[in-house]
Amino acid sequence: MDCNQARPQLQSRLDDALAAEPAAALDGHLAHCPPCRRAFHTLKTAQGAIREHADCFRAPGALRSRILAELAAAAAAPPVSGRGRARRSGHPGRLGRWGWFGSGAALAASLTLVITLTLAPVPGAPLEDQVVSAHIRSLMENHLMDIASSDRHTVKPWFNGRLDLAPPVRDFEAVGFPLAGGRLDVLDQRPVAALVYRRRQHVINLFIAPADGAAAGLHEASPTRGYTVLYWSDGGLADWLVSDLERTELLEFARLLRSPPPAQ
Ligand SMILES: [Zn+2]
Repeated sequence: MDCNQARPQLQSRLDDALAAEPAAALDGHLAHCPPCRRAFHTLKTAQGAIREHADCFRAPGALRSRILAELAAAAAAPPVSGRGRARRSGHPGRLGRWGWFGSGAALAASLTLVITLTLAPVPGAPLEDQVVSAHIRSLMENHLMDIASSDRHTVKPWFNGRLDLAPPVRDFEAVGFPLAGGRLDVLDQRPVAALVYRRRQHVINLFIAPADGAAAGLHEASPTRGYTVLYWSDGGLADWLVSDLERTELLEFARLLRSPPPAQ
């Protein structure tokens, strides 16, 4: 068996879907072919990562299939030197991207891809699901803030020109909810403002989007993956508040946010 025969069978081997004889032949090849062994290990690790996080983040079946198909295609690609091939072809196309699969960086890159795709906003998912996913993503990807500042006069103008809305930014440090910063995020495929507040060791995300006829009044989404999600609309803006904070404390914060700002 050579590499070109081995690569298309890696996924089947992983799924225990090969008969005994081809499985033994493939194992024999893997035993003395480090590049194929790395490709096999990459597939296995990626599949494990998806399984491990599937319950937490409920990656939809179609998305999971897409990731596995990409990885399988990469593993099935002939094991040529990707760098040289991509350069010769003159554009960083599919082979260019995947050709270096099997190098030391490939595993980390593929896992980042898997986790990013798994957590990417899913169009059509209920908004509270997207809000919770965005909250988790902000904590996991070390991308909590684009602008880290407790000064609302620094955070508020940062959104100028980046969004077609001007999010009201207030600090509540005096009552135990200090402003930590802000960033751009995405809900329902649209850019939104995300303000980050802290309560002791807890992180609170406040998403602000155009209201689009969102319900007025304070509402609570059904508990989603252990997070409390509160939402309301006010003055043409829809606000979504999410945290693992104690529910009563998050309700208290929502009331503070909805209270009229003090006279300047
Ligand atoms: Zn091989």
